[in-house]
Amino acid sequence: MFDKILIANRGEIALRVIRACREMGIASVAVHSTADADAMHVRMADESVCIGPPPSTASYLSMPALISACEITGAQAIHPGYGFLSENAAFVQMLEDHDITFIGPRAEHIRIMGDKITAKETMKALGVPCVPGSEGGVDDVDQARKVAAEIGYPVIIKATAGGGGRGMKVAQDEKGLEVAFRTARAEAKAAFGNPDVYIEKYLQRPRHIEIQVFGDGKGRAVHLGERDCSLQRRHQKVFEEAPGPVITAEQRNRIGGICADAVAKIGYAGAGTIEFLFEDGEFYFIEMNTRLQVEHPVTEAIFDVDLVRQQILVAAGEEMEFLQEDLSIRGHAIEVRINAEKVPGFTPCPGRITQYHAPGGLGVRMDSALYDGYSIPPYYDSLIGKLIVHGRDRPEALARLSRALGELIVDGVDTTVPLFTALLQEPDIQAGNYSIHWLERWLDQKFS
Ligand code: ADP
Repeated sequence: MFDKILIANRGEIALRVIRACREMGIASVAVHSTADADAMHVRMADESVCIGPPPSTASYLSMPALISACEITGAQAIHPGYGFLSENAAFVQMLEDHDITFIGPRAEHIRIMGDKITAKETMKALGVPCVPGSEGGVDDVDQARKVAAEIGYPVIIKATAGGGGRGMKVAQDEKGLEVAFRTARAEAKAAFGNPDVYIEKYLQRPRHIEIQVFGDGKGRAVHLGERDCSLQRRHQKVFEEAPGPVITAEQRNRIGGICADAVAKIGYAGAGTIEFLFEDGEFYFIEMNTRLQVEHPVTEAIFDVDLVRQQILVAAGEEMEFLQEDLSIRGHAIEVRINAEKVPGFTPCPGRITQYHAPGGLGVRMDSALYDGYSIPPYYDSLIGKLIVHGRDRPEALARLSRALGELIVDGVDTTVPLFTALLQEPDIQAGNYSIHWLERWLDQKFS
């Protein structure tokens, strides 16, 4: 086992990893930019190293700075958290060359899944059901027209290098195709430096259902059920729950089994998420994330497992602590993302927190790096906390969420808390009756 792990991240996820390290008796090293010198992850870690100025390109994304920080502190492994360098195959390769263990999958698997066309081809070959669409990339408008005519409108044009909901454009009919195609390519080029796009059938009212998988890197893998992340704004998740309100045990076992077999076959190591759209009882693969997800705590709650601990064990060459038959679901969990943003425009609101009080009590988990007097810097993601509740069933989880939101105090900046308080009043949310378009429509009705 490692003696010391460096966490190449900040905020709540850095704390999350530090907590797992401490429980395992492993020393932790925080890294920070000059803007984060007073951040909670720096205070909570055993040691800390300043790795550069505020912009993340010069600090949290600086591979040489991170490797130097490992060398200075003697850290043997890096946990990347999510975002930043968590899905960067070149970084994994570089760590390997410096004899530093990356707590995550092999570079090869990150590379395959990072290119969405290759990911889709790989998954299809492994027996995972996919959204109907182009075979590989689409290079020009004529080819796009041909594919769209074959699969039928509406279609969605997606960047192969895409992420974070960017580089996606919907065409309702042939008239809209050319503009959608050209805008998607331009956006992809600007955002990812790669204009390659592919086409998929645009599903009308699917749910976003993702399967948590975990592999030991030696050909054994399990699934930990699904999360329903259909409540999205601009393709970004805001509210996640597990198990999915409309998924049956039979559907879970079938798709979970397919996913576990797929990652076992490729010898995948560590945590991964296979994302699907789900409509009329069918699952359609859209992408795989080769890292820990923001919403992993809802899975931890219902399976009573520590996913970060398992990541560390597997990276150290030890066995994961469960087999498929050890894993069973208990109750229902919901996570809401507390962002420093002003609703309804969701514009970031960095600033000083004048008062912070975290909710508590039975079944409540607050993952946050906030404290009284903390100043949220303007340079990074606006996620400032995740409130996770767990109950014996969905109604109890909803009641607990409402109660916990009432206890939470975050003063000094605008947050997404009022959004969730309002959502909990909605009969559709109470009934679990929503698709990926529900939230945008609701926001339009409520605020326009
Ligand atoms: P990203 O990597 O940018 O998050 P994804 O492929 O995971 O992109 O898609 C993000 C979201 O976009 C999905 O959760 C869904 O809401 C929407 N989406 C993606 N593909 C389709 C599709 N074929 N039909 C309908 N909606 C889609």
